[in-house]
Amino acid sequence: MRATGINDAHCHFVSPRFFAALAAQGTRSRTHTAADICHELQWEPPDAPETLADRWIHELDTHNVNRAALIASVPGDEESVAAAAARHPARLVGFFMLDPSAPDAAARATRAVRELGLRGICLFPAMHQVPLDDNRVRNVVEVAAANPGVAVFVHCGVLTVGVRRKLGLPSRFDLRLGDPRAVARLALAFPQVPFIIPHFGAGTLQDVLMAADVCPNLHVDTSSSNNWTRYTPGLTLQAVFKSALAVLGPRRLLFGTDSSFFPRGWQRGVYEEQKRIVDALGTSVADAALIFGGNFDAMFTVPAKP
Ligand SMILES: [Zn+2]
Repeated sequence: MRATGINDAHCHFVSPRFFAALAAQGTRSRTHTAADICHELQWEPPDAPETLADRWIHELDTHNVNRAALIASVPGDEESVAAAAARHPARLVGFFMLDPSAPDAAARATRAVRELGLRGICLFPAMHQVPLDDNRVRNVVEVAAANPGVAVFVHCGVLTVGVRRKLGLPSRFDLRLGDPRAVARLALAFPQVPFIIPHFGAGTLQDVLMAADVCPNLHVDTSSSNNWTRYTPGLTLQAVFKSALAVLGPRRLLFGTDSSFFPRGWQRGVYEEQKRIVDALGTSVADAALIFGGNFDAMFTVPAKP
């Protein structure tokens, strides 16, 4: 294993099933099959999950990235990402989107972590419109609490799904529900569960910092272009890193890119910008190594060989 590899805490596993789910919703252009959608997007149509997993490994190798979390990005797609993680257990960590309003949500989560070995339960309250203080969410978090090594990822702030936008699919999300203060309430109730808020809260930075200040089990990922910084006049990503380091310290920041489809592949530009920022802030080599890889390894230990 690479001694100084980068770990990416936030990538999307855009599986055949993901496209099938999109195709089932229909698109603006009257194209209804997964192949049509890929053609319209000019994305490589994914073959089987195993082939896509190998594609990812090749891409990570190209950029000297050691490990990556891959998110199954449509509810019900746990098996795809499980197949990928099982094929490359030392390199790929499986996360999955879960809709807590599904009647079998808690059972699905249990199966995903116990039988399929997935490590991150991803909640999108604005999308699924289940408030974080709803018992259906609590039931799902209880699954993480009962299974050490499983994190709960909660998307907060602005939520746009690029592929939906490109295909003209409606996204009627309730942005009020992705609230870091509600994540704090859960994180305080389940102190043994690591919580991850992606993209520094995607526009809710102040509330994320406040929540993280009172919840030692709350982490942020740094992924994406972090375009939300434009909502605050003058805010720079460097200032965001500086504030986050001041409040959370170096052990609760998880580097991520939000990479998703091919042929675009791994978003090296996101890494280069964030590495430059972390270095410019005078971060020690040891702390930078935590942010870009060590924290991920600590949260998601490599499974022992059977
Ligand atoms: Zn993402």
